Amino acid sequence: MYDVIIIGSGPAGYTAALYTSRAFLKTLLLSGLEVGGQLTTTTAVDNFPGFPDGILGPKLVEDMKKQVERFGTEIQQRHVSSVKRHENTNTLIVETEGKLFEGRTIIIATGASAQYLGLPSEQTFAGKGVSACATCDGFFFKGKEIVVIGGGDTAMEEATFLTKFATKVTIVHRRDEFRASAIMLDRAKKDPKISFLTNKIVEEIVGDTSVTGIRLKDAMTGEVSNFPTQGVFLAIGHKPNTEFLKGFIDLDAKNYIVIKRPSSPLDPQTETSVSGVFAAGDCVDPRYRQAVVAAGQGCMAAMDAERWLER
Ligand code: FAD
Ligand code: NAP
Repeated sequence: MYDVIIIGSGPAGYTAALYTSRAFLKTLLLSGLEVGGQLTTTTAVDNFPGFPDGILGPKLVEDMKKQVERFGTEIQQRHVSSVKRHENTNTLIVETEGKLFEGRTIIIATGASAQYLGLPSEQTFAGKGVSACATCDGFFFKGKEIVVIGGGDTAMEEATFLTKFATKVTIVHRRDEFRASAIMLDRAKKDPKISFLTNKIVEEIVGDTSVTGIRLKDAMTGEVSNFPTQGVFLAIGHKPNTEFLKGFIDLDAKNYIVIKRPSSPLDPQTETSVSGVFAAGDCVDPRYRQAVVAAGQGCMAAMDAERWLER
């Protein structure tokens, strides 16, 4: 029996664990398949306070892990398939492959995963020219011409990073306005290896044994064209990892976890529709989606869980 079971090992999960274990609550953290979360797929993180020279994403989360282990959090690398309430004891049951865990409270910090366009050709060419992780696969595109699909910060960051390997990177975006922050867009625009194709919708990824091009439709004129490329990097956002919670807690239309509206500023700000179940980070946050915000929400969820247990 744990006081707190934390699901997820990104900044939200590790920060929650730091607070609950320092409060002497018996804490289990189930890290899932992506140990360390999204920051393990990036390089330099320049906007997490405390690191004047920046820090590598994988190093930042590895250090968070070491910090929580120092205070006694038990960590197991398990993927959670469901959560339910025990019919008799009213405790919470977390189900993983072949093993159940029982807790008094739960903090969900399962973050978000890369989105795909939904084209069958993405699957056909997965690992043969299609990727959603520049850090993981950029090296394989040394000396090649590639495209990055998307118009947010991830697209700008991935494109800039990929210029280390590729001879030319083209950012393909479905509109002519960008979600990316001004500074990241500006950096990409100034890079001589990066060019932009806007108002273009990717209809298909084409190739033989590997990717040779993409078929594009102009969003304004409907005109269809082919664009030769040897690699396709998807950077079109993420979806919350909340599938396993359907029917247990309230999710919104896009499957983000709904937080119970507090009736006073002193009420918990991280409690879900189920009493004793709290949530933090990108799985609740479609707006800010930053590591420092996820960490802050992890702290809030831990304090809310601690007060719930006291009550
Ligand atoms: P995540 O980091 O997504 O972690 C989720 C965790 O939940 C993972 O450990 C996963 O294994 C686990 N999990 C999921 N489902 C289950 C399950 N069913 N059972 C058990 N465990 C599960 N933000 C910044 O502030 N600065 C940056 O420079 C920056 N760069 C970025 C670069 C890229 C390429 C990307 C994609 C994002 C970047 N971000 C950056 C955003 C930042 O990474 C996220 O906001 C942050 O990681 C969210 O933290 P989280 O703890 O909510 O979730
Ligand atoms: P995002 O901001 O949601 O942007 C996603 C982009 O993909 C949008 O331009 C969107 O187009 C496009 N898109 C979505 N679905 C599409 C589809 N089906 N077909 C074609 N295009 C599609 O996501 P993100 O760039 O991954 O960023 C997520 C969060 O992480 C943000 O808060 C960001 O600031 C943060 N982040 C920060 C950093 C950093 O600070 N260094 C780096 C990376 C990410 P539309 O604009 O037309 O909707």
